[in-house]
Amino acid sequence: MTDANGLRDRAVRAIDARRADLVALSLSIHAEPEIGFKEHKSARKLADFLADNGFSVQRPYKDVETAYRGDAAGAGNGPTVAILTEYDALPDIGHACGHNLIAMMGTGAAIGVRAVLKDLPGRLAAVGTPAEEGGGGKVALVRAGGFADVDVAMMCHPSSRTLSGRTSLASNRVDVEFYGKAAHAAAQPDKGINALDGVIQTFNNVNAMRQQLRPEARIHGIITNGGSAANIIPEYAMAKFSVRALDRRYQQEVLKRFIACAEGAAAATGTTLKVTVHENSGYQNMVPSQPLADRWAAHMRAMGQSVQTTLDDERMGSTDMGNVSQILPAIHPYIGIAPEGTPGHSTAFRDAAATPEAHEGALFAAKALALVAIDAMTDPELLGRARAEFEERRKQGVVKGKA
Ligand SMILES: [Zn+2]
Repeated sequence: MTDANGLRDRAVRAIDARRADLVALSLSIHAEPEIGFKEHKSARKLADFLADNGFSVQRPYKDVETAYRGDAAGAGNGPTVAILTEYDALPDIGHACGHNLIAMMGTGAAIGVRAVLKDLPGRLAAVGTPAEEGGGGKVALVRAGGFADVDVAMMCHPSSRTLSGRTSLASNRVDVEFYGKAAHAAAQPDKGINALDGVIQTFNNVNAMRQQLRPEARIHGIITNGGSAANIIPEYAMAKFSVRALDRRYQQEVLKRFIACAEGAAAATGTTLKVTVHENSGYQNMVPSQPLADRWAAHMRAMGQSVQTTLDDERMGSTDMGNVSQILPAIHPYIGIAPEGTPGHSTAFRDAAATPEAHEGALFAAKALALVAIDAMTDPELLGRARAEFEERRKQGVVKGKA
């Protein structure tokens, strides 16, 4: 065993040594955006990169076709640390969430740890998790036991600010479909049943309910089918919604109330309603491991990077990393890659995710992740605090725990 600082330096140097390849990997994924569960090329690029760097790779992983897992063993028994990647893009707009950088940071961190693994106890797992933007690759992997042997998990997401951690919203995707009866909209409207009115009334009911929801609750939707011609009473209409709240229990209550809004709309319009709550769409709220998040921030600061720990204007979305954080200590820090205030899922953010500045920042974030992984393997006190905090939260019902 070499001393801790020697290990750290070697891990960081290993990442620097692959810098050009890592940036090329990120830009290649950015240039060929693939949406959730269709990220075949991206998954292959990442899995091949790991294989070339001494990982034994499974692809697919746990029957999730565009998931993969690269494993490498250290010297003797110790914790299993998972470093996660995402690589799905958004429809039409491309890598507007910058998941190409998540792929690069996770892979870079894994390669840094791999370079010193023969001097560490434990195991390293580099896990590729698809379809974060809808589909829930991590939900499927958690359900299939894909993290059953993992002690701590980590990843880093690009943002317009550098932040050691924050919570995320619990969420479900829900479809509502209304069935009515077609009729001539001018000559015999009384003979028809208007399915579009079912959808419109659902939006109105939701808007009426909003005032009575907690501030962080979010219900938002689009109409995907509203009929085919103005002179036909629509016999079929459909809308897609997201239903979100700050914690899983309250989110489930809001979901019930949302479904009641749709049922009320069906009763008012005489339509028949079908509700589909999507499988794997149950994104749970993120509960970051404080000791590990603090350690990531400390490593970033030691490299001269400034890191925020809390936000005064907290805005958040949802991530399936929440589901991982519900079963084991996990972190999901953010690296600032765009001017503050740049909205996510925008063309500006997409373009920022391909700049040299973004990759510069992402390399620091990858190094900090690698150092946290090394600490989790070599510093029993840190791992002990992470586990104790998780266990306390499990007792309080804040997280679910494994199994
Ligand atoms: Zn994202």
